[in-house]
Amino acid sequence: MTTQAVRGWQQSPGQALRVREGFRVEDFDCSGTPGFPGTKRDAKRLMRQRGDTLGELQEKLFAEGRSGGTRSVLLVLQGMDTSGKGGMVRHVLGLVDPQGVHHTAFGVPTEQERSHHYLWRIDRALPPAGKIGVFDRSHYEDVLVVRVRSFVDESVWSARYDEINAWEQRRVDEGTRIVKCALLVSPQQQLKRLAERLERPDKHWKYDPGDIDERARWDTYMDAYQEVFDRCSTDAAPWYAIAADRKWYARLAVTELLTHALEGMELEWPAAAFDVDAEKARLSALRR
Ligand code: AMP
Ligand code: MG
Repeated sequence: MTTQAVRGWQQSPGQALRVREGFRVEDFDCSGTPGFPGTKRDAKRLMRQRGDTLGELQEKLFAEGRSGGTRSVLLVLQGMDTSGKGGMVRHVLGLVDPQGVHHTAFGVPTEQERSHHYLWRIDRALPPAGKIGVFDRSHYEDVLVVRVRSFVDESVWSARYDEINAWEQRRVDEGTRIVKCALLVSPQQQLKRLAERLERPDKHWKYDPGDIDERARWDTYMDAYQEVFDRCSTDAAPWYAIAADRKWYARLAVTELLTHALEGMELEWPAAAFDVDAEKARLSALRR
């Protein structure tokens, strides 16, 4: 029996997709499949393979957390409406045991949240040791929507980039590996997805009339994203630019980045905290 080879990544996504100096969001091709020459079919197969690896690594991380370890992973998903953040959670985090996932979606701050510093709700949502945290939107909203809509003065939001970098550095120093993925969808693709949300009754719940107002501010949003990329793609917590017009590609890319992050942690099964031979002897004594 022959198995058909799955075409894989030409270049490691960690290298190919990382936002570096000189990255221009306006020049980015949202419909491309950077680093991956394969087809949608290849992507689905590869995703299954990597999903198995991801699942095993996640269990090791969980076991480590149960055995006194303090490390965790945080996947940050940012993107315009319809960029596929929700689907990413379903399809990528769906590859691992839900017990190991700590998911938070950030919406308009509640009254209580607004009475605190903007990082207060973010701190509270951090993954506990051994878990993979997922942020659907994040602290970056405080330099994206907040900036675009002038919810605070420029003097306030402009101080946040350095503050966010310092906050992320602390989390990394404490043992959280941060993977930040910007799902970049084109305005043309967004238009299609919004139209689909209106056409299909099963998608009406996802439609928000305010999405059209946000869309009208596209260029201002892109300026805000550009500044995030310019100032907050650090060595401690780099940004990855994910072309999101093709969902299968975006999901594969994030699966790979997340799996790669866990591989880099060199996770091992924790050693037993008991005498294995003595326990075996006790158990066999019961069989007699
Ligand atoms: P959704 O992700 O579709 O549920 O929408 C959540 C909404 O909450 C989006 O319109 C965001 O822009 C908004 N949002 C998230 N964080 C903030 C924030 N810190 N300040 C104001 N609006 C926010
Ligand atoms: Mg929405």
